[in-house]
Amino acid sequence: MSVLIVGSTALDSIKTPKAENPRLLGGSASHAAVAASFFAPVRLVGIVGDDFPRRYLRLYEKHGINLDGLQVVKGKTFHWAGEYEVNMNNRRTLKTELGVFETFSPELPLSCQDSPFVLLANIAPALQNHVLDQVRRPRFIVADTMDLWLNIALKDLLRLLKRVDMLVLNDSEARQLTKEDNVVNAARAIHGLGPKYVIVKKGEHGSILSSPGGPFLCPAFPLEKVVDPTGAGDSFVGGMIGFLAGSRARVEKNLRRAMVYGSVVASFCCEGFGLNATTKVTREAIEKRVETLKRITHF
Ligand code: AMP
Repeated sequence: MSVLIVGSTALDSIKTPKAENPRLLGGSASHAAVAASFFAPVRLVGIVGDDFPRRYLRLYEKHGINLDGLQVVKGKTFHWAGEYEVNMNNRRTLKTELGVFETFSPELPLSCQDSPFVLLANIAPALQNHVLDQVRRPRFIVADTMDLWLNIALKDLLRLLKRVDMLVLNDSEARQLTKEDNVVNAARAIHGLGPKYVIVKKGEHGSILSSPGGPFLCPAFPLEKVVDPTGAGDSFVGGMIGFLAGSRARVEKNLRRAMVYGSVVASFCCEGFGLNATTKVTREAIEKRVETLKRITHF
């Protein structure tokens, strides 16, 4: 089954202690779409300006991503710039230039309206709500968010939470949303806001699922070298929903396995700048890492 993914389609300028790379292909939807494409057909909804390099459009196409819902308009593509400290877990946003996103109103083409799996990747919650208004009878809806929206668009986010099956957020965001320090209590409080499933991400320490079937602790793949973790969270959630869509098993039964696949795709993402490493991965390499992860976490 196919996955509809809406989110930011961006140019990212990323600086790490070792290197600097301007105007890479980035954005929450780009990372999530490439990650999901290893497992299921993907439909991308977003907007880019006329400065968006053609080779990036070809990269989406190389991954079989349907671009009927991607608007290419006059103006500047969303541009985000960030800098990592020596400890690559700490990141500073240097610039967020909305460009064409400022006036973006996603209109779903007919070909995208019947998507059974929907990922509302990180973007303004008003836009996430607007996309959801246009999807007919979705089977499973996942939303991602970030601290910015908790600060400036909480009302829209709370409205969204009543409409989605799953919320994915990191531990500091879960704390900010619920005022609960304890992850278990924070997840419980988020269930009370709507989502039946909650995943709290903990960066290099993996993630925790809270669900009616009980909790699950999903490990992160231990890497020797992290080149650039930008988009790891988006790759995780994209890989997870792609895996769910590409499998015949019921969501509840398949969720743990799907999280592990998401975690593995996220590990590849961290091994290159932007999407450089993820776009070179093969399904075979993913399966190999899943097997390794299984072996090193089994007891
Ligand atoms: P992550 O590393 O998972 O937090 O995701 C990083 C990606 O989020 C980058 O590719 C950025 O282009 C994108 N991004 C940064 N700020 C925003 C924002 N305000 N809205 C949507 N996407 C953003």
